[in-house]
Amino acid sequence: MLAVYASDPAASRGRRFAQPPAPGRTEYQRDRDRIVHCSAFRRLVYKTQVFLNHEGDLFRTRLTHSLEVAQLGRSIARSLGLNEDLVEAIALAHDLGHTPFGHAGQDALNECMAPFGGFEHNLQSLRVVDQLEERYPQFDGLNLTFETREGILKHCSRVHAEELEAGEPGGVGQRFLQDGQPSLEAQLCNLADEIAYNAHDIDDGVRSGLITLEQLQQVALFDDFKRQALAEFAHLQEPAAGRRLLYDSIRRMLSAQVEDVIGATLGALKKAAPHSANEVRQMPPLVQFGEDMKLKSQGLKHFLLHQLYRHPKVLHTTGQARRVLRSLFDAYLAHPREMQPRFVARFEALHAASDGSRGAARVIADYIAGMTDRFATREHERLMKLDLLVEPSRSMAVEAT
Ligand code: MG
Repeated sequence: MLAVYASDPAASRGRRFAQPPAPGRTEYQRDRDRIVHCSAFRRLVYKTQVFLNHEGDLFRTRLTHSLEVAQLGRSIARSLGLNEDLVEAIALAHDLGHTPFGHAGQDALNECMAPFGGFEHNLQSLRVVDQLEERYPQFDGLNLTFETREGILKHCSRVHAEELEAGEPGGVGQRFLQDGQPSLEAQLCNLADEIAYNAHDIDDGVRSGLITLEQLQQVALFDDFKRQALAEFAHLQEPAAGRRLLYDSIRRMLSAQVEDVIGATLGALKKAAPHSANEVRQMPPLVQFGEDMKLKSQGLKHFLLHQLYRHPKVLHTTGQARRVLRSLFDAYLAHPREMQPRFVARFEALHAASDGSRGAARVIADYIAGMTDRFATREHERLMKLDLLVEPSRSMAVEAT
């Protein structure tokens, strides 16, 4: 049963290229199906979340992360009367634009692209579903509904929002220019993303040995639930039960966050009383944690930032990853024909145009962003053997002038 403020597929703002309805499926189910079948989705399995893909088989990848976001999102959506299919579609697509090597890859590509308009991963996820997937005879991309595309574009800089608005007036760029909000389903995906990575990064962090259960005593959100688990099951004290203690604490933490979001959001909805999905877009964000949980979640994020994401061992591998991406970018800029043929064709067509270097550099960014960790590593080795890796600073300076 959908609430009045839920997104109704029958009232969708539709697709950029009109298509007849699919028998037996709503428009958002169809979006979800298109996402699951696209190539960018399959590549998520070999992309880093925090730990590089080859560091261990049990760490989260972008794919398992996206599945966890979808699971959390759907279960909250059901309690709030929101559209589960739309939540699932957005959750499964939200990281499609991520580069190899996680945030380090992103930062590196953004630096390389600084003279050519920069690189934003949310915008790249939209590029994947709007332009880069080549599966249909009639159009580029997956031709998803407005509501799914709106949810995928979680953040966007003003300059990119203006570009989007110019190409699609009143489209997905508009809310960044008018300070509007997306649908409740999209708001929910943002929070489900946060809940998912906070929990699984604790798990992966402890598994990797980079953080310990003792250190986690500093984190109120985790420690409260660890105490609860120990009070209920005394045998979890034993060192051999360490993993069960970790899992039980995380499970309790996840449930508490889910319940908190449901309670706080129902409270906010009651107060704001939106009468339609569209009215929500003019209101402040409504999907939210309660005040106390918000602070505790920030405490956990702060801990993970300092103890895990900035751990010297993580910084060492991400530093290498950053160098790999920079040298790949520079090598393709100097030798574009080393890319796969369809990217070479796009590169050459754009390079001949008036604002050539900007568009052509974007083709390189698309190519690199689409790579898995292992493909990027192999390409780096291949180009090194061919002696095609150039000094990053030199080629950037030449191209930027
Ligand atoms: Mg995510």
